[in-house]
Amino acid sequence: MPKSNADVAVAGNGVLGLSIALELVRRSPGLRVVVAGPASRPGAATVAAGAMLNCFAEVTDSTDRHPASRAKFALARAALDAWPHWLEGLHDEETGLGPTLVAPGTFVVLGARSTPTATRSFDAVHAALKEHAEPHHEVAADDIPGLRAVPNERPVRALYLEREGAVDARAVLQALENTGRLLGVTFLDSQVSQLLGTRDAVNGMLLADGTELSAGAVVVAAGAVSQSLLDQLVPDVTPPLLHGTGFAVQTMRHIAPGFDSVIRTPTRSGACGMHLVPLGGGVEYIGATNIVLFDPSPGPRIGVTQSLLRFATDQFDTRLGMSAIQRWHYGSRPVSLDRFPLLGPTSTPGLFVATGTYRDGFHSSPMIAGHLANLILNPGSTPELLAPFTPQRPPIETMTVEASIDLFVSDAVETATEYGLRLPYFLDTDPVAAQARNEANQALERLDRPLALTPEILAAIRDASPEHIQRLNTYLNTTPPRRPAPTRADLVLQPE
Ligand SMILES: Cc1cc2nc3c(=O)[nH]c(=O)nc-3n(C[C@H](O)[C@H](O)[C@H](O)COP(=O)(O)OP(=O)(O)OC[C@H]3O[C@@H](n4cnc5c(N)ncnc54)[C@H](O)[C@@H]3O)c2cc1C
Repeated sequence: MPKSNADVAVAGNGVLGLSIALELVRRSPGLRVVVAGPASRPGAATVAAGAMLNCFAEVTDSTDRHPASRAKFALARAALDAWPHWLEGLHDEETGLGPTLVAPGTFVVLGARSTPTATRSFDAVHAALKEHAEPHHEVAADDIPGLRAVPNERPVRALYLEREGAVDARAVLQALENTGRLLGVTFLDSQVSQLLGTRDAVNGMLLADGTELSAGAVVVAAGAVSQSLLDQLVPDVTPPLLHGTGFAVQTMRHIAPGFDSVIRTPTRSGACGMHLVPLGGGVEYIGATNIVLFDPSPGPRIGVTQSLLRFATDQFDTRLGMSAIQRWHYGSRPVSLDRFPLLGPTSTPGLFVATGTYRDGFHSSPMIAGHLANLILNPGSTPELLAPFTPQRPPIETMTVEASIDLFVSDAVETATEYGLRLPYFLDTDPVAAQARNEANQALERLDRPLALTPEILAAIRDASPEHIQRLNTYLNTTPPRRPAPTRADLVLQPE
């Protein structure tokens, strides 16, 4: 069996694995760092990402409501400042220069038919921009270059965020790998099939090609599939990871002018909102769908695919209908049960985790890499900012169970409306709401203790296999709740 040695071995070659490896060798030249992961990166989130560098554009009305949400925002805010320097430090193989922003700013638009959630998110974005004196200005729809929405979808309000642009995720990934190689990082084109060691100490990993890699520290950064690796040494103590499956298309403009900045909706029901990222030369990235699942489907579903394309042409530019599809992207955002990232050391000495970043891990990657590298090189001190995201934790609950059921219900009604539900004046959406309430309660009934979860996670639990539910319950029974747990009687159950 081939053997190899490293000081730090990283399982996973997405943006997090590569950025952490790079930060390690920058901070400690000569450190032997190995990154293992398949070069083709099947299902990787990073490859599919629009790579918007969005912090304020991601704000919702719940960003300020819980310490963990505030910590996540603080991380994203620090990343916003860090990106220009981070890009300068990367080297593209051909040019020797760092990748640049493909789009310099972001328009956040609120369409005429926006749902109440989208409107609340838009207001929250605006309030946060003002509170933090972040450069922005309000714009009229007529002043957004490239915009041509259908009349009933035209933006009624819009903001331009000067510092929030986008990069080409694939180009940055390539530049990260190239820069890491120049600084001595070793890349192995192979899956990690097993972590080596015991619960008391990790000492390396076994690769699918049979290579045994011994290492003083191991970082699990394998995206949504990190769960299977964590199960080997720290089973049932980290919030389970799910796949936030996302679909996007890359198109070539046929009818000019197209966009020269990112254009996006605020965060809205069930997903991250729709966005278009101009990649240059008429190429545009249109994303993204979001369906959270325990077991991802092998490809995007036709239903959401159809809606994404329709929403983009209706809400951004009808001329997109003439663009040619160059390729499509499909990847799994790593999302944890409580939707917060898993970042830092575990109870197994030497074993670190960096995953669960869900929708904005690309943007936060420079900060995450810096903190993780520091923790690995100076074990024992978790910075206050990362404390809420310690990988071994009970689920973070940011609302009551009742509020989470109500959110599931309003989300279902809003999604139905977004997808075209239109009722005659003498009917209301009560039947849709009642059905959704039953579904939420049925999903919660599958858990050994009631839990406040977001709508897309509750939907995944509703549809999960009994095996996944059993594992989830084992985790819940292993990790004591943070607060007095609500009882079943606390749940407002609707009659069937
Ligand atoms: C459609 C879409 C759009 C997005 N848009 C944005 C955006 O605009 N802005 C933003 O900030 N974020 C965005 N995200 C989220 C962002 O992509 C993720 O948060 C981030 O890329 C996660 O990076 P990662 O390295 O943790 O995971 P991944 O990118 O999934 O990387 C994990 C890597 O591990 C490898 N791997 C898997 N199994 C193993 C194994 N056993 N051994 C070794 N390696 C393994 C995989 O091949 C993969 O390369 C988007 C995601 C999607 C899907």
